[in-house]
Amino acid sequence: MGLLLGRSATAETELPHELRSLSQGESGAVGSGQSLVFFCPRCHRRLCPLSRASGTNGGAAASQALTWRIPASRLEKAFFGGAAIKCLHCGAGRVSVEELSKTSSSASDDAHDEDYGLAGDQAVGAKTAPVPCLTVALRPAQPRQAVFRPFSACVCGCYDSVIDRAAAALSALNSCGPAGAKRRIHISRKTLRRSELSSSSSDALLPALALDLVVVAHRISGQRNPITDAHGLYTNLIEVAWSRADVVLVFLLDVPCEGYLSRMLDEQPTLLGLLSSGRLLPIFALPGEGGQAEAEPAAERVEDSAVAAPPPPESIGWLARCLDGKVPRIETTGELAQASGCGGAAVREATARAAATAAKEANTTSLLKAVAEGFLGRLLVRDAL
Ligand SMILES: [Zn+2]
Repeated sequence: MGLLLGRSATAETELPHELRSLSQGESGAVGSGQSLVFFCPRCHRRLCPLSRASGTNGGAAASQALTWRIPASRLEKAFFGGAAIKCLHCGAGRVSVEELSKTSSSASDDAHDEDYGLAGDQAVGAKTAPVPCLTVALRPAQPRQAVFRPFSACVCGCYDSVIDRAAAALSALNSCGPAGAKRRIHISRKTLRRSELSSSSSDALLPALALDLVVVAHRISGQRNPITDAHGLYTNLIEVAWSRADVVLVFLLDVPCEGYLSRMLDEQPTLLGLLSSGRLLPIFALPGEGGQAEAEPAAERVEDSAVAAPPPPESIGWLARCLDGKVPRIETTGELAQASGCGGAAVREATARAAATAAKEANTTSLLKAVAEGFLGRLLVRDAL
């Protein structure tokens, strides 16, 4: 233990126990066959996207060496040699690396890219903004230092039964992952009272953990209350979560078919921004079942529906995409409401049209496909971490 108290180690902070037990050093992570997150030793947020470099490593002793691809822009060279990846979140944490070679290919078309279950998905992935990569070996301060942790996601909402349904979809990701590696995901939950939603304190709204994804889970029931924008139920929560997590997703359950979703998107510009940037996941109610938005006290209805339906398959793939940061980068929540934001007016209009069509057929998959097509040429969250 005394070894850990060296000068370089004191700046680093220990992972909270929820994430620590599943964290790994480099060789442990590779040996485990799990898909994990390369994290900042200081603030524990994702340090940068990392994928295994394939092919030859170039050196005589290289057969044992593990090599990784990182976006070239993330390599920081020190004045007297030595290179590191520095954390963009806290600005202080870093992990030293050794630069091995430059590769010309982009991060978006690497072999670990995943098909998220939509037809033509790979093609969409390949056409997002190209990112030059290079190959490095990790040189952490301590040879067996844990530099990989599980993915960390928090599901929050007002009702346990709704949180259960979103958490079930996330849990399903623990058994699948890119290139055969199973994701390890730590899922935290936060049930919030309506009165708590307006709190500006991050600690009151979200757990004190590094978060890759925050899922705001809401079930449509009763009167059509705004979710975002002025007087929106989750306006403040989304704002607070935006700075805490790489991606914030609104998971909307039991959305009535026909014009309900279109009216919401029309009345709440931020909601359309969330949808066109891949951060709104609407699951339609089956025709004739719930979600008809008749005016009745919402609370009792929601608690009555505690029998959790199995998560729809399209939701699982989309959650994986958000967890991996493969949605367009949006700096601030203010951008979401702007007509020129989130890919521009044309993308927003196309998204709204796709939503109207999809709602008629209760077809989330066709909507998500249209949304993913709007990602073309845009910088993704993972490429800008
Ligand atoms: Zn950091």
